[in-house]
Amino acid sequence: MVHADRKPVLLLVDDQPAIHRLLAVKLRNEELEFLTAFTGEEALELAKEQQPSLILLDLTMPGMSGFEVLKALKENTDTMEIPVIIVSGSTDSRHKVRAFELGAMDYVCKPFDVPELRARIQSAIKLHRLMKMLEQRAQIDGLTGLWNRAYFDKRLEIELNSRRRTNRPLALVICDLDHFKLLNDNYGHPAGDTVLQGFASLLNHELRSSDVACRYGGEEFALILPETTPDEAIRACDRIRLAIDAKSWKNYEGLSATASFGLAHSDDLPVETAEEWIEAADSALYEAKRGGRNQVHAYGHGLAAGGALEIDEPPTEQAA
Ligand SMILES: [Mg+2]
Repeated sequence: MVHADRKPVLLLVDDQPAIHRLLAVKLRNEELEFLTAFTGEEALELAKEQQPSLILLDLTMPGMSGFEVLKALKENTDTMEIPVIIVSGSTDSRHKVRAFELGAMDYVCKPFDVPELRARIQSAIKLHRLMKMLEQRAQIDGLTGLWNRAYFDKRLEIELNSRRRTNRPLALVICDLDHFKLLNDNYGHPAGDTVLQGFASLLNHELRSSDVACRYGGEEFALILPETTPDEAIRACDRIRLAIDAKSWKNYEGLSATASFGLAHSDDLPVETAEEWIEAADSALYEAKRGGRNQVHAYGHGLAAGGALEIDEPPTEQAA
């Protein structure tokens, strides 16, 4: 889910070993981890792989110049958000202007004053962290801590694009807490919130870190399961189904909650668009509700897990 804080990683890019040695000594007491690159090509590779928190970039290097590196960093979606401080021997204001135009966060002239550089580094890292946090917070559901609908929409597009390139299997699950309105009416909204949070924590517990659990809206959740076979997806849904069914809710005696699951899998779904995927998972969910709830339905296959022994009231218009 949301990444824990790690020590900020600083990527230092300079063709001169003396600069690397100097900064390693002068910045050794900072809360930083260091990566070093002596050429622009090396820097681009490391930036992409290691996702440093900040890049200190020399302008004058053999091969790719600092400007070329900066441009390449800012043009690549994998590296465009990493802040870059230019560290250059040039005090020419045209160079400074060009650096800022290309997206540099700051510009420091060599020979640099170490305390000043240190302060600029810390301030760039702080600002970047704050921006990241705000960006992430805007994509998180406040009640459950899961990703929200806006993130889901974005992420599903990304996964579908990657599937178009790689043809790897993909599963989408939409699940919904059964009789949630009734639960709220009988036990009150704080109980409803507790169940939503409890369900979210089960999702976090039962899913792999590569899976994406989102609150889709109200009592509805959407799960994106990359690189998952139909059987694995059904088993994952059924584990969650059994876990929520078995869960006891302290402070709410007699309360029990169940959920219904609709699964769409790439094996059964020769479609491209996010809308079609969601429709397929939704229609499987509808079948699970109609079949008596507390069960898993797979698009194109019907009942996949649970439900066999259920005796439920016939479906009504407000089945939800
Ligand atoms: Mg140089």
